Amino acid sequence: MSVRKINFCCKTCGSDDIVFDSSSDWNAETQSYEHRDCYDHPPICNSDDCMGEEVQVEIVDIATGEKLDSVYGHNGVALQYLPIAEAKEIERIRSEQRAAEREQARAQEQAARLAISNAETLALGYEAMP
Ligand SMILES: [Zn+2]
Repeated sequence: MSVRKINFCCKTCGSDDIVFDSSSDWNAETQSYEHRDCYDHPPICNSDDCMGEEVQVEIVDIATGEKLDSVYGHNGVALQYLPIAEAKEIERIRSEQRAAEREQARAQEQAARLAISNAETLALGYEAMP
């Protein structure tokens, strides 16, 4: 499977002249900055229309022009770009799974509390026996 190439485009004007706020490290060996991480700030669009305004961007497949969304792996690290509808479907399924897991954990906790309560009742009954 070929790796999907993406680009970021301004939602306001469509330009891909987008600047992200990020931090860098200085690499003394190569005598250049190395990108470290992007900040959470909105990016800036440098087009003549937007002239450095903060903008929202959309992720676009370079080959097909399809609009994409990012999907994180369960560990929150692995990043994948999928068509928006697919990404939303994956997020919807994950959300349902999380809700089911919460419900299962709640049911297990309730069963454990009931077991303890039953054991306490039996112990009291045992103590009360002549
Ligand atoms: Zn723009």
